[in-house]
Amino acid sequence: MRATVMYSAGDVRIENVPDPKIVESTDAVIRVTRACVCGSDLWPYQKMERSDTGRVMGHEAIGVVEDVGADVRTVRRGDFVIMPFAFSDGTCAFCHDGLQTSCIHGGFFGTTDVAGAQAEAVRIPLADGTLFPVRANTDDALIASLLTLSDVMGTGHHATVIARVTPGKSVAVVGDGAVGLCAVIAAKRLGAEQIIILGRHADRIALAKDFGATDVVSERGEAAVERVRELTGGYGVHSVLECVGLEQAMNTAITIARPGGAVGRVGVPQEQTIPGSEPAFYNNVTVGGGPAPVRAYIEELLPDVLEGKIEPGRVFDRTVGLDGVPDGYRAMNDRKAIKVMVAP
Ligand SMILES: [Zn+2]
Repeated sequence: MRATVMYSAGDVRIENVPDPKIVESTDAVIRVTRACVCGSDLWPYQKMERSDTGRVMGHEAIGVVEDVGADVRTVRRGDFVIMPFAFSDGTCAFCHDGLQTSCIHGGFFGTTDVAGAQAEAVRIPLADGTLFPVRANTDDALIASLLTLSDVMGTGHHATVIARVTPGKSVAVVGDGAVGLCAVIAAKRLGAEQIIILGRHADRIALAKDFGATDVVSERGEAAVERVRELTGGYGVHSVLECVGLEQAMNTAITIARPGGAVGRVGVPQEQTIPGSEPAFYNNVTVGGGPAPVRAYIEELLPDVLEGKIEPGRVFDRTVGLDGVPDGYRAMNDRKAIKVMVAP
């Protein structure tokens, strides 16, 4: 089959690789209906050291189950499924707590150990705990939104959970990428009254407003902090959703939280330390977050997608076949596309 293989920063190729097959009796193999390129794929795209074997990329997909191992019980051949970006057994202490991204037998797709889904097919370890079968009628128009439940919509939602968004609260979203835009949807969905998006790309800002953003801050650094304070009576916001992962974004996030507020961080950090220690301390700001347990959130978010109450699939502004994936990486890296969908 054909798959997307990254060999080093900027070097993404479409190659023939062996077809995935059942290795463990708890595996499944799915044929990929749609996959996509993630903002977090851009970190290796910018930094990856050269590898001779390469890495099959992609951790977001929906697809159809083609084969299952002898011990798979809850999914069957022909099921239409959502593949969360992490695999998990569904039975350990952390899976029971709804934190599948810490599953003791789990891991992530698109790593050097487990092949990814920007491919024609993908092997799913621990299929019962990992895959979410969607047995409702799935209109083609819903495909894009269902795909976001594999990562970006669940990740945006996770930021709101960690930052304790509740009805009537003020929220700031740091970052206008696909996750930031989904975080706006998630904040609106939970009843936030004021939703301030920090970003500067006209197309993304327009979408954020459509999704429910009430204010836009295009400044950066200290000027952004000033502007958010102006918009919040001088206090800062109750909840900050950090959807970037860079030091300046994190620093801004902590500084615009009001005393007693919380920062939910879902941008993959690119530094070893968290900045803003002093303002976080003196303002009693809670800082939390990490890889979103999107598997746990599908149950909650799926009905809203199926009923058309939320349309996170609108974050996709380009669709490519596998041959177009290298261009898709380039477009996202150059900020010429918000999020690229892959139709293998
Ligand atoms: Zn587990």
